[in-house]
Amino acid sequence: MNSALRIWHPFTNSALDPPPLQVERAEGVYLHTKDGRKILDAISSWWVNLHGHANPRIAAAIAAQARKLEHVILAGFTHEAAEELAERLRKWLAPELTHLFFSDDGSTAVEVALKMAVQFFSNQQRSEKCEIVALEHGYHGDTAGAMSVSDDSPFTEPFRSMRYPVHRVHSAYCYRCPVGLKRESCHIECVQQLESLLAERGDKIAAVIVEPLLQGAGGMIVHPVEFLQKVRALCTKHDVMLIADEVLTGFGRTGKMFACDLAGVTPDLMCLSKGITGGFLTMGVTLCRDRVENAFRSEDRKHTFYHGHSYTGNALACAAANASLQIFDDEPVFDRIAMIARIHAERLEQFRKLHEVGQTRQIGTIGAIELRAEDAGYLSAMRPKLYQFFLERGVLLRPLGNVVYVLPPYVISAGELHRVYDVIEEAIQTLI
Ligand code: PLP
Repeated sequence: MNSALRIWHPFTNSALDPPPLQVERAEGVYLHTKDGRKILDAISSWWVNLHGHANPRIAAAIAAQARKLEHVILAGFTHEAAEELAERLRKWLAPELTHLFFSDDGSTAVEVALKMAVQFFSNQQRSEKCEIVALEHGYHGDTAGAMSVSDDSPFTEPFRSMRYPVHRVHSAYCYRCPVGLKRESCHIECVQQLESLLAERGDKIAAVIVEPLLQGAGGMIVHPVEFLQKVRALCTKHDVMLIADEVLTGFGRTGKMFACDLAGVTPDLMCLSKGITGGFLTMGVTLCRDRVENAFRSEDRKHTFYHGHSYTGNALACAAANASLQIFDDEPVFDRIAMIARIHAERLEQFRKLHEVGQTRQIGTIGAIELRAEDAGYLSAMRPKLYQFFLERGVLLRPLGNVVYVLPPYVISAGELHRVYDVIEEAIQTLI
């Protein structure tokens, strides 16, 4: 007899981790498991959910779309849901971003941006301008190109041979300042490394990729807005594309629709995914300026951007995204976001005083507590203990090593968010 076909769960080591929990249904911020547990999803299921699980408006939009058109090839064809999405996004985006390219998820939105930047120069007979700059502590996804621009970590360690070389420069990680300064008195000297690199090799560099204002998987590291502003100015000066990976930060997470808005910065290319469909379906989007698309418009077919995934511009995903953006229009989403931000600020202020806490960080709806640890980093021994402790108390939190963060769906209530912080407080008192 054949053995059972078992699901191999991501980020799970079957020799060490407990078996997965079976979720039967979900509603709002809660996951309901087969064994009768009710778990508060305080990380929006890997940062994707905005308006609550099984949101009826998004569910209905997907169902209606499925009865009309489920999917059609996007090469040479278009459809109403995709056109509507472009129109809806127009309202939220900087006017300089004029073109939208669909892909499948965050990683592929990043791959597209990197390839667009490189081919942009190659189409103009400047193929020597092909190198990429990325930040320390960055994370941009798990495909080969996205892994290349992500920092070295246990995620990338086995794949050294598959990653192409990139220039790696300092990030503005103020708690562990790469140039040994204090934020209160510094002038963002950490950006000088990028400044020197671009001055020296700007004619060889196609793009700088950043997670604007917040490096997520690297430890919920919040950057001063001045850092992003300086990176933008340097890219402009050296005719280098600025790629803003807003896969995590997009759609209100940082308090504005996009993190770049907070800094008053417009990138040349922007990557979106995760929250774009409200957390229902997978979709990637790469946006670019007119100037970029123009370089692909040519009598020479070799200048075409030959990149397209089978499910590109999927109609069901577009319908979900349209419904999610309609919720932004109709419901007080930014009031919900402001409430979350206020409670984060209030509770983090208390955590800051604990001696177990190295630093607290916050941007918009994301609150993070970096715990002091001798083994700081993703594989910190604290992580599995904390994760289990939280789950046993009915809260889904997945610390990034010694960094505990809260990133809830926007429909969480004040009482529920306080409960999450109470559980974190109990964990620190009990385990650390
Ligand atoms: N970029 C950023 C900033 C991310 O945080 C992630 C995922 O966490 C990705 C890209 C990759 O997205 P996906 O997991 O959808 O491929």
